[in-house]
Amino acid sequence: MGRFARVPPLTISHIDTAWLWRYTQTQQKIARSFSSQVELIKRYPQHHFVASSAQQYHWLEELYPTIYRSVQEQVKAGRFHPVGGSWLEHDCLLPSGESLCRQYLYGQRYFQTKFGVRCKEAWLPDTFGYASQLPQILRLAGIDYFFTQKLSWNNINVFPHSTFRWIGLDGSQVLSHMTPVDSYNAQANFSEVVKGVENAKTLGSTDQCLLLYGNGDGGGGPTSGMLEKVNPSVQPSEVADCDSFNDSKPQPMSIPRCPRLRSARCLTSSKPSWSRRQMVRAYQHGEESCTLSYIVEYVIPALIRLPSHH
Ligand SMILES: [Zn+2]
Repeated sequence: MGRFARVPPLTISHIDTAWLWRYTQTQQKIARSFSSQVELIKRYPQHHFVASSAQQYHWLEELYPTIYRSVQEQVKAGRFHPVGGSWLEHDCLLPSGESLCRQYLYGQRYFQTKFGVRCKEAWLPDTFGYASQLPQILRLAGIDYFFTQKLSWNNINVFPHSTFRWIGLDGSQVLSHMTPVDSYNAQANFSEVVKGVENAKTLGSTDQCLLLYGNGDGGGGPTSGMLEKVNPSVQPSEVADCDSFNDSKPQPMSIPRCPRLRSARCLTSSKPSWSRRQMVRAYQHGEESCTLSYIVEYVIPALIRLPSHH
């Protein structure tokens, strides 16, 4: 009989700090999402919620101090979980190494100072590129784990692993997970759980695959309807929170058959995310392996279409 993936659910409210709206609207989305999750935490004793990005907590602290204090209370109670350890869910290709270091220095310092927690996992579900120096920076920031999702959008290469050790330039490793549900905005539907089970690619190493559910991009998080869909079918002890997922995860070095990957990774999507100039700059940063597909797919065709000088 084959081995099946277990798909513990985890609730989030993915909020793009900068995307299709102004910062003031991001700030309102944070206030609405976090306050509604605090209310749901009070109504549903099994509800745990994770949220990343120190900047978002910082805005809440400055602009909505009452909601911020209620979040602080729930962090203390172990129900609301800051994750990621970074100032933002940052890009990895365009920032310099120092910028990436500052992401985790300022992020971890904020979470430590304001909430008394240090994050053990990097949290970049929606980043389009993965710099090869990141494992080293993460380990130096006290982070052993890495979560992402975006590589499932690849339309050139299918990323072959759900759980793997990502090895940086200096040999530093982080145990990495890319949910086989292929979403960070799942709606807690049965079909998503089935997808996680059927799409899990690394069962030889681990059977754990995360289901991240809750309205996202513009925030919101799980609704009471989603929580009620999940909870009747899951025993309380199986409802995952971030800490229990961390606790149950093996240490980075202890999975003997876990696949290892070196160097940088990048989303190879049908929608180019950077200009040619930005890609060339990324190339100059030494990200050859991750920008090559962009260059083949977009830069060369773009150059061919350039008007001639005569
Ligand atoms: Zn996003």
